[in-house]
Amino acid sequence: MSEEHSALTVSLSQLKLASKKLGLDSGMHKMLSQPKRTISVSIDIRMDNGCVNVFNGVRVQHWDARGPFKGGIRFYPNITLDEVTALAMLMTWKCAIADIPFGGAKGGICVDSKKLSTHELERLTRRYVSLIFEYLGPQRDIPAPDMYTDAQTMAWIMDTYSQLKGYRIPESATGKPVEIGGSWGRTEATGRGVIHCVKQASENNGLKLKGSSVAIQGFGNVGYHAAVAAQEIGCKVVAVSDSSGGIYCKDGLNPEAVLAHKEKTKSVQKFKDCKDITNEELLELECDVLIPAALENQITGKNADKIRAKMVAEAANGPTTPEADKILYEKDICLIPDILANSGGVTVSYFEWVQNLTREQWPLKTVNQKLEAKMTKAFNDVESIVVKEESDMRTGALMLGVGRVSNAIKVLGLWP
Ligand code: GLU
Repeated sequence: MSEEHSALTVSLSQLKLASKKLGLDSGMHKMLSQPKRTISVSIDIRMDNGCVNVFNGVRVQHWDARGPFKGGIRFYPNITLDEVTALAMLMTWKCAIADIPFGGAKGGICVDSKKLSTHELERLTRRYVSLIFEYLGPQRDIPAPDMYTDAQTMAWIMDTYSQLKGYRIPESATGKPVEIGGSWGRTEATGRGVIHCVKQASENNGLKLKGSSVAIQGFGNVGYHAAVAAQEIGCKVVAVSDSSGGIYCKDGLNPEAVLAHKEKTKSVQKFKDCKDITNEELLELECDVLIPAALENQITGKNADKIRAKMVAEAANGPTTPEADKILYEKDICLIPDILANSGGVTVSYFEWVQNLTREQWPLKTVNQKLEAKMTKAFNDVESIVVKEESDMRTGALMLGVGRVSNAIKVLGLWP
C-alpha cells in the first residue's frame, strides 16, 4: 500500500483484515465500514473585531451497538472529513477493546485555535454545540477533549447543552474541569494508560523496566503525563520533544523541570545539560521504549528501519503507517497500537460519566486503581488473541474490538 493512502483508507483496510480473520459476512463488513451518521455544519460567529466569520465543523458517529457514541472533538486547521471518519471508527474499536459501554464518534472544527481569542473560541464552541445539539446527549453522544481542545472547551460544551435543555447535565461531556463534575485523573489518564501498557508488555516479555530508557515524541498533555508516569515506575526519560524540536540526556531528565522550562521559553529545547536534537533524531534514538505522542504518520516506510527502540507504544492516534508496521514487526519490535495504548483517556471519560450519573466524585486513588485494572485487562485480552492467532498486536487489537462490536450487532438484530 502506498503511503499516500488516507487515514480512512488505512482504517478501512484494517477493518477488512480483521473482518476476514474473524470470518464476518459481507453484510456485517459493509455495516461496519460506514458511519451511522455524519453531521456537517457551518459555524458562523462574530469575531472580536465585529466581522462575521464562518468555520466548518463536523461530527461523525460511527457505531453505537455497545452504547452511546463517544469521542473527542479536535480543533485543527486542515482537518478533513475523511480523517474524522477514520478516527470515529477507531473510537468504536477502542471503546470495545477497553470494554466500556460506548460506541465511537469524532468531531472537528477547521480552525487554527491559536489565532482566536478565548471569547471567539467560546462562541465557536457554543455555536457548534447548538448546531449538532439534537444528536448529542449523555445517552446519545458524549464529546471529550482531543487535539487543541481541553477541559475549558468541555465546560462550554456541557454548559451549552445544559442551557438548551433547561437543566444541568454534567454527564453530557467528559474531560471537564473537576469543579463542575470532571473526574480526578482524567487529564493524566491517556499518558498514564500508555505506561500501564508498557509495564504489562514488559512483564509479559520478561523485560526489566527499572532503569530502562524512554524517548517521547510530543510534550503536550499526553506526552508529558506519560513522561511523569514512566519516571514514577523507575524508567529514565532520556528524550522529549515538541513542535520546535527535542532534547536528549542519556542520564534521564526531569519532566516537571522540562515543563517549567517550556512554559517559560515556549520550547523544550535549550534545557540545561541536554543536547538539542530534531524530532526525526528522537525517533531513531537507541532506547528501550519509544512513545510517539504527537502527530499521525511519524514512523513511515522511510524511517522504520532506523528505529532502534525495543518497544513502540502509540500514544498518538495513527503515528505508524502500514508500511512501517510491517518493518517494525519484521524487526521484532513490540508495537502497542493506538487503539489499545491510548485508551486510558476514554476509559477515565467513562469513569467520569458514571460518577456524573450517580452524582458521586471518586478520589484520585480510586480512579487510578480502576484505570490500571482496566488497562491491564485490555492488554491481556489483546495479548491472548495475539498468541492464538500468531499475529502482530495491531491485528490482535482490531480483532478484539471489531469482534466485540460485531457480536453486539448480531444479538441486537436489524430493525425493522
Ligand atoms: N480524544 C480521546 C481519544 O482519542 C478521548 C476520547 C474520550 O474521552 O471520549 O481517545
